[in-house]
Amino acid sequence: MPAVSDRFAQTAPKVGFVSLGCPKAMVDSERILTQLRVEGYAVVGGYREADLVVVNTCGFIEAAQQESLEAIGEALAENGKVIVTGCLGKRAALIREHHPQVLAITGPHDYAAVMRAVHAQLAPPAHNPYTDLIPASGIKLTPRHYAYLKISEGCNHKCSFCIIPKLRGKLVSRPIGEVLREAERLVKDGVRELLVVAQDTSAYGVDIKYKGSDWRGNDYRTHMTDLCQALGELSVWVRLHYVYPYPHVREVIPLMAAGKLLPYLDIPLQHASPRMLKAMRRPAAGEQALQRIREWRAVCPDLTIRSTFIVGFPGETAADFAELLAFIKEAQLDRVGCFSYSPVDGADANALPDWVPAELAEERRRMFMETQAGISAARLQRLVGRELTVLVDSVTGDGVVARSFADAPEIDGVVRVRTTERLIPGQFVKVRITQADHYDLAAVT
Ligand code: SF4
Repeated sequence: MPAVSDRFAQTAPKVGFVSLGCPKAMVDSERILTQLRVEGYAVVGGYREADLVVVNTCGFIEAAQQESLEAIGEALAENGKVIVTGCLGKRAALIREHHPQVLAITGPHDYAAVMRAVHAQLAPPAHNPYTDLIPASGIKLTPRHYAYLKISEGCNHKCSFCIIPKLRGKLVSRPIGEVLREAERLVKDGVRELLVVAQDTSAYGVDIKYKGSDWRGNDYRTHMTDLCQALGELSVWVRLHYVYPYPHVREVIPLMAAGKLLPYLDIPLQHASPRMLKAMRRPAAGEQALQRIREWRAVCPDLTIRSTFIVGFPGETAADFAELLAFIKEAQLDRVGCFSYSPVDGADANALPDWVPAELAEERRRMFMETQAGISAARLQRLVGRELTVLVDSVTGDGVVARSFADAPEIDGVVRVRTTERLIPGQFVKVRITQADHYDLAAVT
């Protein structure tokens, strides 16, 4: 059971929790777990000891749906009392068809509905302020020293391969004051790196007309630039994910150059051929990505850019693919993921003509990754000999594993540190980079 547990579980009603899906779903799980603990429930690690089990599901692609349905089945077989939430919760009929015995089904980021369902099955105990040891920032599923900061829910775009807007609805931004207070609490509780996430971080605030809020005596708009300025005051690492290359992104690059934000942008470009971007209905498709990247790097030469791409999208020709390869050679991106297109149930792209055969898509993916491996390796070589501050993730018998500004947790590389110092997870330490391979670095203190 990939679950979360705590040690204060002697007398309280016990809830098992299974968390599946992306970082945004993980943030949902953290909220629900926080609320459970705030109300005095114990979160336990085994199905058998739990009075009921909450399964936070993912419904993004077919494989994730299958994994979620299997997790629900396992929880039912082992425990019998199961509440389902998360993205797959939008497909209640599908869940009921496979598992008619689930007690309740709620959709994504509906914490209140999950709690109502829990209350209906398992009354909360009286709150005891002396024994309920909840950190002010809540229970975190990530290690103590980094945390995802979700700034909005949903998405206003209509990318043809994606069903997230159907699952999660339109963009709903959290007011900036609320986000900043959460960030402050996290930092107070030991977080050293904040990972800003949303479906489209650049669109933050557009739905609430960039409504202003006061924080530490200053007025901030609910806008990406203001958010970055304010987070830059917290003296921790701040890393931006899911940014689209709109013109206003240039406003945050000087903050990166000044050391207020990590010089890192995660920009899911998905393709470079205008024809493909149009078929994909991508946001910022009309923006000149190459031009933007050049401008940003002129201001902040250390800027690390991560991106993901899809090859073999319906209608992709050899010329489109050649354009994509030329783009990645020119753009010299640092961290890149590439997927062969796979259809998602309910996505508009399924109706497009001229599907690319799976073997050809796979061949293109292989070529793409081969080209990119050389680029990534050359980009990392530039760091050899430099002194960098890294953040220690783990210290084990096998050594110290840390990350630099260029490495987001779980998706990028790591820095393996040789040292005689006693380091601990969550510590910043100065190292000298001694070696680089395709994805990782080696360093000494
Ligand atoms: S931007 Fe596109 S891919 Fe991302 S969530 Fe919105 S619709 Fe989906």
